[in-house]
Amino acid sequence: MMKSDFFSGLAENNRELLLKVPMSDIHNHSTKGCRRSWLAEQLNMVLPDPPEKFDGLSGMQEWFTREIKPYCTGKEGIILRWEGAFAEAKRNHIVRLAMNFGVTEIDLVGGMEPFRKMIDGFHQKHCPDTVFEPEITYISLCNVEEETERMDQFVSDGYFRSIDVCGGENLRPIEDFLPLYRKAEQFHLIKKMHVGESGPAEDVRKAVEILGLDEVHHGIRAADSKDVMRFLAENKIQLNVCPSSNVMLGYARSFKDHPIKVLYESGVNVTINTDDLLIFDSSIENEYLLLYRAGVLSAEQLNEIRLLGNRPRSRSI
Ligand SMILES: [Zn+2]
Repeated sequence: MMKSDFFSGLAENNRELLLKVPMSDIHNHSTKGCRRSWLAEQLNMVLPDPPEKFDGLSGMQEWFTREIKPYCTGKEGIILRWEGAFAEAKRNHIVRLAMNFGVTEIDLVGGMEPFRKMIDGFHQKHCPDTVFEPEITYISLCNVEEETERMDQFVSDGYFRSIDVCGGENLRPIEDFLPLYRKAEQFHLIKKMHVGESGPAEDVRKAVEILGLDEVHHGIRAADSKDVMRFLAENKIQLNVCPSSNVMLGYARSFKDHPIKVLYESGVNVTINTDDLLIFDSSIENEYLLLYRAGVLSAEQLNEIRLLGNRPRSRSI
């Protein structure tokens, strides 16, 4: 039984059992979505271990650019890492995978047609039974006007299910992104954004209200405000949380003190995800295990979170 595998896996610290349990990963940056050991094997080399902590988002980017990227660079490197993300979905019995893809990478491989063909090929090859929900992502410093104008070429075929903005908070006012999200709405995309990872709780509410977000990537700082948590709970806004990422980037003090506990216990819908598993050297079963072993949430609570993540969400109307 799947259910008992999950409970025994946690209680016995048994990874093999946990790997058999259906899980989801819905906050995953595709170019960093493969395991380091998988990539090392493909490249036939040893890749360095990540440090225990990074100096924020920029420290992480620097480490990645210096230590990993030189060995899997350019178009071929990106394609290899994309394939690795699907290989990991198979290994980890991911039944629902929402991965985000940057427009720059899609351009790099020649646009939507070759991109789709390639990604669908990896999906079919590694994990055809996984519900796959592609997400289009923009970096916060993108040229909003230009990207809004050319969004059609990426989303008009209906391939993408959701939109996201990532790459640093508070680099510009939230209102700046309105044109992108209005256009996304015309294409019925589920609206998400990276917010409340480093920025304050109030920003999470603001982003949801201004852009009409359906879900939030991270959003952990909402735990600092009872008001914002109540707002998220009442409006059923789900936070896609990535514990290892938060701890290693210094946005959560430790696993033991991770805000997911307060969020969950305040009635906010949360899911557990990997973010950039190539960098943080974790994987989805490990995230559940780390939270359980740190005593953050009980097996029953973690199971409830797991089941919520596994439920595919319907398109925005
Ligand atoms: Zn992220």
